[in-house]
Amino acid sequence: MKVGIIQSKQLKNYDFGPGHPFRGDRFENFFSFFNAKFSKSDRFEIFLNEKLASNGDLELWHTKDYIRVMKRASSGAEVADLFRYVSGDNLNPQTRRFPVGIEPAARVIVKNSMLACELVLEGKFEKAVSIGGGLHHAKSGYGEGFCVYNDVVICARHAIRKYSLERVLVLDTDAHAGNGTCEAFYSDPRVLFVDLHQENIYPGTGYENEIGEGKGKGFTVNVPLPPGAGDKAYEFIFNELVFPLVEEFNPQLVIRNGGSDPHPSDEITQLGLTLEGFKNIGKSVSEISEICDGKEVDLICSGYKPEVLSRSWLALISGLAGVDITLNEPFPLRTEKTQILEEVQKIVKKVKRNLNPWWTGLNF
Ligand SMILES: [Zn+2]
Repeated sequence: MKVGIIQSKQLKNYDFGPGHPFRGDRFENFFSFFNAKFSKSDRFEIFLNEKLASNGDLELWHTKDYIRVMKRASSGAEVADLFRYVSGDNLNPQTRRFPVGIEPAARVIVKNSMLACELVLEGKFEKAVSIGGGLHHAKSGYGEGFCVYNDVVICARHAIRKYSLERVLVLDTDAHAGNGTCEAFYSDPRVLFVDLHQENIYPGTGYENEIGEGKGKGFTVNVPLPPGAGDKAYEFIFNELVFPLVEEFNPQLVIRNGGSDPHPSDEITQLGLTLEGFKNIGKSVSEISEICDGKEVDLICSGYKPEVLSRSWLALISGLAGVDITLNEPFPLRTEKTQILEEVQKIVKKVKRNLNPWWTGLNF
C-alpha cells in the first residue's frame, strides 16, 4: 500500500505575514523539493483536498466562542477583546492584527489531518502525511505559538468517534511541548500522549511529573530534553521508553506530529537532531506502527529555517515510508558532547519511575 501525502492549494494562506517565522511559502517550497526527489517513486500518492473542516469538526476541541472570534478576526473585522483569544505571536508582526484569510486555511489543515486518519483507517493508504498539520499549541479557547486550530486533538478525537477506537497513540516530536494537545487528553486514557521536547523553553510546560490526571493518570508522558540532546538521545528514548510503553498500550492508530525545529540549524531551539536523526524517527515510528498494521498519520508543519525545513520534512517522510534517500546537511554540524546522553538517561529514569505504577513493562 502507498503512503498518501495530502496537499491543498490553500495551505499557502496559513501565513502570519512578512517578518513572522511562520510563512505560507514553506509548503510550496516543500512540495517542489518533494517532487524533485520523489517524482519517480511509486511509494507515494499525492491526495488533493480543498474542503474545510466544519464548525462541528472544530468543536471536537474548540469552543464556539473561539471559533466565532477566529472567523471574524480573519475576515479583517475589528475584535475588541482579541487578546482574550490569541497571543501576540499569532498576529501579523507588521500590522499587529490577526492575519486576514488565515482562518479558512487553518480549517483546511484540520480537514487534511482528519482525512489522513480516514484514509488510513479505511485502508486507502498504509500511512498518510498531512503537510501543514501538527498545530499542537492551540487550546480550546485560545490560540498561541503560531497555532490557530489544533488538528492533532481534532483528528485523534475524530478517529476515536467515527471508528470507535479505544486506543490512539499521539507522539509529539516537535521541539516544543504540545501544551494544547496535552490539555485535551490529560484525563483521557484512550490517548497515550508521548511528548519529547526541549526543557525550559516556550510554552513552559511538559515537565516529567506531568503524567495525566484522574482516569488519564499514567497516559501522558513528558520527556524534557537538555539542549544539544542529539540523535543518540532520541534513539535511547525510543528504545528505553517509547517502544515498551507502546507495546503495552497496543494502539489501534499512531499519530505523530512535529516538523524540523529540533534540527541544530533551525535556530529557535537547540536539540541537535540531524537529518539522519529525523530519518531514524520516521523509521522508529514506522516500526511502532507495525503494532497496528502500519496505520500511521504524520502531521508536519514546524520549522523556521528554509534550508533545513524541506530536508528535515523529507527525512521524516523517507524514514516512515522506508524509502532510501541521500540528504546532505545544509550547514556544518557541531559535535555532540557525551555527557548530555548521561543527562538524558537520568531524565528517562525519572520519567519511568513516575509512570511505573501504571505500566508493567518499564524496567529501570
Ligand atoms: Zn515547535
